[in-house]
Formats: sequence, structure tokens, C-alpha cells
Amino acid sequence: MPVLVMKFGGTSVANLDRIRRAAKRVGVEVAKGYDVIVIVSAMSGKTNELVGWVGETSPMYDAREYDAVVSSGENVTAGLMALTLQEMDIPARSWQGWQVPLKTNSAHGAARIEEIPPENIMAKFGEGMKVAVVAGFQGISPEGRITTLGRGGSDTTAVAFAAAFDAERCDIYTDVDGVYTTDPRICQKARKLDRIAFEEMLELASLGAKVLQTRSVELAMRYNVKLRVLSSFEEQSDTAGTLICAEEDIMESNVVNGIAASREEAKMTLVTIADEPGIAASIFGPLSDAGVNVDMIIQNISEEGVTDMTFSCPIDQVKRAEKALGEARDAGKLTFEELAIDTEVCKVSAVGIGMRSQSGVAAKMFKVLSDEGINIKVIATSEIKISVLIERKYMELAVQALHDAFELEKA
Ligand code: ASP
Ligand code: MG
Repeated sequence: MPVLVMKFGGTSVANLDRIRRAAKRVGVEVAKGYDVIVIVSAMSGKTNELVGWVGETSPMYDAREYDAVVSSGENVTAGLMALTLQEMDIPARSWQGWQVPLKTNSAHGAARIEEIPPENIMAKFGEGMKVAVVAGFQGISPEGRITTLGRGGSDTTAVAFAAAFDAERCDIYTDVDGVYTTDPRICQKARKLDRIAFEEMLELASLGAKVLQTRSVELAMRYNVKLRVLSSFEEQSDTAGTLICAEEDIMESNVVNGIAASREEAKMTLVTIADEPGIAASIFGPLSDAGVNVDMIIQNISEEGVTDMTFSCPIDQVKRAEKALGEARDAGKLTFEELAIDTEVCKVSAVGIGMRSQSGVAAKMFKVLSDEGINIKVIATSEIKISVLIERKYMELAVQALHDAFELEKA
């Protein structure tokens, strides 16, 4: 039997009614002849509540016990889903991560999946079980402790199962009906994409479109798992949602397929540093040691051996960056005259695999922004992406203007 993985997020299993609705969807796939692996999240809000309880009980909590508590939300929905399916006369059984077993490393709270041996579940399919309901987000460490995969980790569980069981597809049921060309709250003309390439999705996910956990997309790309994002609140059809797939499976693509915007950015400039070998390392070494995620970097042309260095990072890491650079200066490892911090910036990016073969995209983007009177502070490019840092108050305007200019409302 072909295997299908179906994942239901927190809003799709928020109460018994919704679990019944999700179970019906599973029933449709079973009727088509699939053996189905259902991955469930905790009921919406549940994980937040559990995280809160842990913090209240023990501010400096033991991460092993955090995982023991926080993983429990999924156990409830897995059992309830199996019961609901049984009530519909569909042979189903629930599995917690350790029972599969979904083996992870020991990084509690952010564990990485190491192996999912399919034998146990396959044996049950062989005995007539039609649906294995697996608690998402959790696994077991080499020490035999329960682990969790980090917030949003059920997406990653689902993709890992699809890879381990060589599933035909991995359907992610959520509360949005797919991946959009941009955030529909910012731009009314945003259009749902039928297909998007893994690499584009990765760029959009890491640039602030929070539909899927980024790691799940990385995993899907590595194992070529066809991923579909769709709403559990809309009628089912074969073309519903957005298929995230390999480039080869996309016939025709626009040059730009998405405009991503990220509000929480900051720009920092080290003024008057020595332009000499090792200077970049002496700045970005301490930042990296302090866990600052530096994104864009520019170094100015130097005059008489001195220059400036500008970089961007998430706004909530500014304090940490300031501290790390201050300490490096105090320790005599770095000299600069001033650290200028700008927290009124945002990042807007155009993403598309079509950029690989088409030139002029950057020029067009800059022209559009200039026509709107928007000043660009920092530019960064990759093969399939152009990002600019601009003043935050222009974010909506920039997204809308770029969406129009690249005609993203058209398929
Ligand atoms: N329940 C977990 C969370 O809220 C995992 C997930 O739903 O993906 O982060
Ligand atoms: Mg999620």
C-alpha cells in the first residue's frame, strides 16, 4: 500500500469537533487505498500553557523535565484521534515518539532527529491497521529520555516520517489555505501559489513567512519529500493548498515568486575601524560566540586605512551584540570610534528561482523603491533572492509596490 503522511496542526485539532473533522479527512484518504500516518500537534494553546507552567514551577528548569511536560499535549491528541478513527470503524492506533521509536540526539528542547526505524509501524500496517497516529514534536534520546524538537516541531516530525516511510506525499493541514506571494495582511493582492520550489520556500520561511518550521522544509528538500500545505477548514480537492516541491516539478515560474518582509530587524555600524587583515574576524567572531545571527554585512571602501562596517541582525539581539562588541573592545581585541544602532529598519526581499536565468531583477527592484522615494540602507543578494534594508515605516508601501511591479497577482 502506498503511504501518505497527514499532519494536523494545533488549530485543526483544537477540540473534539475539529478532531472529528480531521478524522473524516483521514477517512477519505484511507478509502483511496492509502496506509496513513497521521502526525498531530497539541490542541492550540496547549503547548504555550505547558511551557508557562514549567517556567512558573522552575525558572531555571531542567530541560529534561521541560520536555517531559511540554511533549504531553501531543499525547492527548494522538490518543483522541485514534479513538475518533476507531469510532468511524477505521483500524487505528496511537504512538508516542518513544514507541516508534523516533530517535533523536540529547539536545533537549531543540533535539534533532537521528533515525525513525519503520519496522514497528509497518508490521502493524501488515496486520491490517490502516492509520498510525503519531504524536508530533517528540522523540527519545540515546539516554532513554523524552525529547522535543523545538517549537513548531511537528512539521519536522511529519516530513521525517514521510522520508522514512517513502510516503507519496506529506500533507500539512493548517489554518491557512496555502503559501502566498506575500503576506495577505500587508497586500490585498497577495495570491495563493499552486506550487513553490523548496529553495524559494526556505527563503520565504526564514524571511518571515511562518507557515512551516524551517527545518521541515530543509528536510523535505534533502529527501525530496513532496510537501503540501492546505487548510483543514476548506473543502478537500486535489489542487487545494500549495505544493512545495523540487524545481523540476515546476513547469513554468515567474521570475519573482514571493515578496517577504521581516519587521524585526536592526542595523549596526562600527564607525572608524582599522582596514587590515583579521578585522572582520575580530568583529564577527565575538558576535557569533555571543549567538548573534548576523544577516547582511557591508564594509565601506576605506580611506587612509580606516573604514566602517555595517551589519544587520534581529532586533531582539541588539543588546547582546552591543555587549559582545563592547567586551571585545575592552579586552583590546577591537577598536572602533562609535557603534551606531538603527532599530527603525525592516527587511524586504524578492525571491524567485527564475532569477538564476534572468538578469535585471535587482535593477528593477531598486527602481521601484526609488520611485516610491524609499531609501535603501543595505543590500544583500543570493542566487534566488534580493534583500534590502529600509526604514520600517515604508515596509507596507515597499511590499505593495514590488508586488505590483513584478505582477505577482498574475499566475
Ligand atoms: N505543539 C508544539 C508547538 O506548539 C509543536 C507543534 O505544534 O508543531 O510548538
Ligand atoms: Mg506549526
